[in-house]
Amino acid sequence: MDEITCKLLVIGAGPGGYVCAIRAGQLGLDTVIIEQGKLGGSCLNVGCIPSKAIIHVAEEFAVLSSAASGKSVMGLTASAPTIDLAKAVGWKDDIVRRLNGGVGGLLRKARVKILHGHARFEDGKTVVVETETGSQRVRAEVVVIATGSAPVELPSLPFGGAVISSTEALSLSEVPKRLAVVGGGYIGLELGIAFAKLGAKVTMVEALPRILPLYDEELTAPVARRLDELGVEVLTGATAQGVQAKGALAVGTADGQGRRIAADKILVTVGRKPVTADLGLEELVLDMDGRFIRVDERCQTSMRGVYAIGDVTGEPMLAHRAMAQGEMVAEIVAGHPRAWDKRCIPAICFTDPEIVSAGVSPEEAKAAGLNIKVGQFPFAANGRAMTLHGEQGFVRVVAEADRQVVLGIQAVGQGVAELSAAFGLAIEMGATLQDIAGAIHAHPTLGEALQEAALKGLGHALHI
Ligand code: FAD
Ligand code: NAD
Repeated sequence: MDEITCKLLVIGAGPGGYVCAIRAGQLGLDTVIIEQGKLGGSCLNVGCIPSKAIIHVAEEFAVLSSAASGKSVMGLTASAPTIDLAKAVGWKDDIVRRLNGGVGGLLRKARVKILHGHARFEDGKTVVVETETGSQRVRAEVVVIATGSAPVELPSLPFGGAVISSTEALSLSEVPKRLAVVGGGYIGLELGIAFAKLGAKVTMVEALPRILPLYDEELTAPVARRLDELGVEVLTGATAQGVQAKGALAVGTADGQGRRIAADKILVTVGRKPVTADLGLEELVLDMDGRFIRVDERCQTSMRGVYAIGDVTGEPMLAHRAMAQGEMVAEIVAGHPRAWDKRCIPAICFTDPEIVSAGVSPEEAKAAGLNIKVGQFPFAANGRAMTLHGEQGFVRVVAEADRQVVLGIQAVGQGVAELSAAFGLAIEMGATLQDIAGAIHAHPTLGEALQEAALKGLGHALHI
């Protein structure tokens, strides 16, 4: 068997792994990365990027459909639009292809050796890769596990046929006439809304009493209203029980009556699980956190010289968290004094309208016994939001009552995803309400709502 040695071996080239390898290469570490699929991992190939492309297609289609309905308040008219989903998927695939190439180029520029194949541990410092041309053994001083996550399958709804995961949903060649979505979390909501805009009759089945339970109800209420406008039926406190003959989903409902939902496709989005199977983890002595690999504040596992980053280490399963962990671990391996010291990991749900949350919510702050003040400003009073026909929603700032240091910022509204950078920066830099209120925010922008929310927290908002 061929054998190579290196300083750092990264298993998995998703956002966690490839960023770790690039940074390690930049720091002069002799680095190898192993990927069994395509460079970029779930995020680039079947996650963040493809879903946002399809969501954008759906949004464009919704604008045309609204114009064609003759009800456009902006005076737009159009004739009945059609969608060639196969072509839209082709456009999405082209974006993915370009980004795949980009990741490969960046890895090569950083002098990282890329091995294509499945990796399996022999011991804590040795991994065997099954490549197309045979087996290769890699010995490394340090190994980083960045194997990511995969969709959770429900025993009552195994994937196959009409039952699909987000991966298949992002590559359909036709819009299903009737789509049942099981799980009203991130993926269910993002894709359910997109397919509703593309013309599918969508029914959402969520086990808990409300959709997007990760976010507080004030933030999710505008999304619930939009679902209603789009004709999406939402069943909460409901559980999917299995497929019935002739394309129907059996659902146990809160009232005990049960429902039968006709569906051409059933999209199951009930969470993601870590990819740890067939990795040879039994050869190592790793402490686990449930199914996830337990790591400390340096992403070090319980075994010396073995680190883990990204989705395989648990929630929040977000690409930017994986990337930040990857960068940190590369620097630790290069000898830099690093540890996880982030104040927040902003989270965005790309629904309609979008939701952003950075830092703590009022509920979380109160539960932690913090004395806070909250400033909230509605987009109904923001000129730019009105010109975008996006008056729904608000920006909310949570600050310490005495020192006025900002602890959290949340927003719901059209286009608020792009405000997340300002929210994260303010919290990371320890900004106070005065810092935000005192910075000039260009007019007319949605960002002015952040400044006004801070002013509201100080007791003197100007435009409300
Ligand atoms: P992954 O991206 O899963 O990459 C792991 C890689 O390891 C894979 O390429 C896999 O092939 C490889 N691998 C696994 N085992 C082996 C092995 N034994 N040998 C070799 N290679 C192996 N996050 C966001 O922040 N924003 C979003 O908008 C967003 N949207 C999403 C939409 C969807 C539909 C989905 C499914 C996810 C979305 N996510 C989003 C989550 C995001 O994709 C993940 O958090 C992110 O990809 C995690 O990165 P990772 O590097 O930990 O793992
Ligand atoms: P999720 O955890 O966001 O939502 C799963 C939902 O399914 C929950 O609301 C849960 O109550 C519900 N559920 C669980 N079992 C059920 C059952 N048997 N019947 C009905 N409902 C059930 O999971 P997801 O939407 O699959 O997304 C997985 C992960 O991917 C997320 O946790 C997130 O970290 C990541 N992601 C992020 C983004 C983003 O950042 N914009 C987008 C998509 C995915």
